[in-house]
Amino acid sequence: MPKAELHLHLDGSLRVGTALELARTRGVEAPATWRGMFDALVAPMPCRDQAELLRAFDLPIALMQDAEALERITAELVASKAAEGVRYMEIRWGPLLHVARGLSLADGIEAVVRGAEAGAARTGTVVRLIATALRSHDPTDNVRLAVAASRFRDRGLTGWDLAGPEAAFPDPLTHATAFEAARAGGLRITIHAGEWGGAAQVRRALAVNPERIAHGEATSGDPELIAEMTARGVCLDLCPTSNVQAGIVPSLPEHGIARLHRAGAPVTLSTDDTTVSDISLTDEYGRAVAEIGLTLPELWAIDRIALDVAFADEATLAPLRREFDTWAAGVPELGAGTAQAGASASRS
Ligand SMILES: [Zn+2]
Repeated sequence: MPKAELHLHLDGSLRVGTALELARTRGVEAPATWRGMFDALVAPMPCRDQAELLRAFDLPIALMQDAEALERITAELVASKAAEGVRYMEIRWGPLLHVARGLSLADGIEAVVRGAEAGAARTGTVVRLIATALRSHDPTDNVRLAVAASRFRDRGLTGWDLAGPEAAFPDPLTHATAFEAARAGGLRITIHAGEWGGAAQVRRALAVNPERIAHGEATSGDPELIAEMTARGVCLDLCPTSNVQAGIVPSLPEHGIARLHRAGAPVTLSTDDTTVSDISLTDEYGRAVAEIGLTLPELWAIDRIALDVAFADEATLAPLRREFDTWAAGVPELGAGTAQAGASASRS
């Protein structure tokens, strides 16, 4: 199945072998064996809460403080995803987290842009980037980030995101000026919400007028909110395994992706983090069918929706839609999913 993935963090998707090499060559204190590094990079399943999950990012971020490392990790992530049939992907990362050892903000962003360009050129997978601001960061720094990120819009950095600890920093409007700067710079808006605080946090996120919300699974238990999301066309980029790992959903069968999709809400399916959650997108698709109970046509429709809400222009997406639809036309079991996908494409 050709796949599109919209919710994927660079710093949560570092190859173990690369981490070992970077720790050795950069003098970062870290486990020296493959097994030890694997255990350090993969978060507990489940974590006690989102805060514990976020601690799994400390080591990868310490390893990603120079341009060479950022470029390499980005290109490797594109290669890994391309190898499992991902044809369109959006990678997000927090550029302000990668300047601790003197790298400039612009040079750090450019390194990831170069890695994405190299990965795309080598594999044919289309890559777009999303700059993630942190809830915990100073609002002024996030405005600076929005301005710096906007300068790379013509090189595939097309999105703006807010993430980080929700319990300690629940109100996204603290960063309203940064959202405005990102929008003014032509970036399209998404925001992490609902990894803590349930549906109330998702409602709060709507205040920044996002096109998409990262997570927001709690919407599935709130019919009024489902109706609002659907009416506004706000898509939820869901990551079931990561949600179980973060302790916000007790188990995969209880995840709301099927309920949301069947209620007509636009949703997509992603991994969030390949390494922190030790999962490929193919694994996540398999679990969505085997454990959550999506039918294959439903899974296909969800995959196909990603190409309708992606942060790329029509000239980029139209050929991908044709490619996906041509593939599906050869798979009789997907007839229903293709029809739904076609309907959603004609709406956009
Ligand atoms: Zn995320």
